Amino acid sequence: ALQATKLHKAYNNVEVLGAVDLSVHSGEVISVIGPSGSGKTTLIRLLNGLEELNEGEIKINGQPFLKLLKHSNSKSQIVEHVEHRTKIGMVFQSFNLFPHLTVLENLLLAPRYHKMGTKAELEMQAYQLLNKVGMLDHVWKYPHQLSGGQQQRVAIARALMMRPQIMLFDEPTSALDPEKVNEVLQVIEDLAREGITMVIVTHEMNFAFKVSDRIVFMEKGRVVCDDTPQELREGKNTRVETFLKDVT
Ligand code: ATP
Repeated sequence: ALQATKLHKAYNNVEVLGAVDLSVHSGEVISVIGPSGSGKTTLIRLLNGLEELNEGEIKINGQPFLKLLKHSNSKSQIVEHVEHRTKIGMVFQSFNLFPHLTVLENLLLAPRYHKMGTKAELEMQAYQLLNKVGMLDHVWKYPHQLSGGQQQRVAIARALMMRPQIMLFDEPTSALDPEKVNEVLQVIEDLAREGITMVIVTHEMNFAFKVSDRIVFMEKGRVVCDDTPQELREGKNTRVETFLKDVT
């Protein structure tokens, strides 16, 4: 579904990602783990076009999404195919709901703008998704009237409204109170079981091992390993093993 090749990113000439490759097939769940500052968030923001690439290419279904073209005069230009943006759903660490809109309005805004159905169809879809994430009783509330876990569940439903081909999660539970973490992880796990294609940056190792088809371990802007949970458990990579011992 998504293929990223040789992604490079630097901030102020400091390399944050160096030649990162990632391929995500349809229906796959991939967790991205690694120490703080290893570039996980940067990678996921690049995949969604929220950060500018310095080099590399991202394709969706074999079609170019983002690509950096180098010109002979050393200027470069990003070629972006904006129509692919709606194929990628994003869930942020800090929820990012629109504060002045109700839960229902938050869900309807983007699909209405993109004319993805009639008002009645989209409302029906919104109610179904809110039911799925357990938020049907809160449709008329504003974000500030909800707990962090509830806001994040609304944010997940909002992303799903666009019927994305792939969902990206950037540390979806790290801004939550500990007792709210599981309700959000459970929703993500349910989506994984439904076969939704997902890339999840997370520090929740038990969760990553439970839901992922592959776990990508990053360190210092590189992919150190990209293995199944089973392969990781067998502990062939000593660096990853040390990291896992430290965090679990
Ligand atoms: P964490 O687990 O702590 O969230 P991470 O693996 O997601 O870390 P990133 O947030 O991708 O790491 O950051 C990678 C590096 O890039 C860090 O050294 C960070 O300081 C740097 N960085 C990230 N965003 C910017 C920015 N906008 N400007 C300058 N440096 C940045």
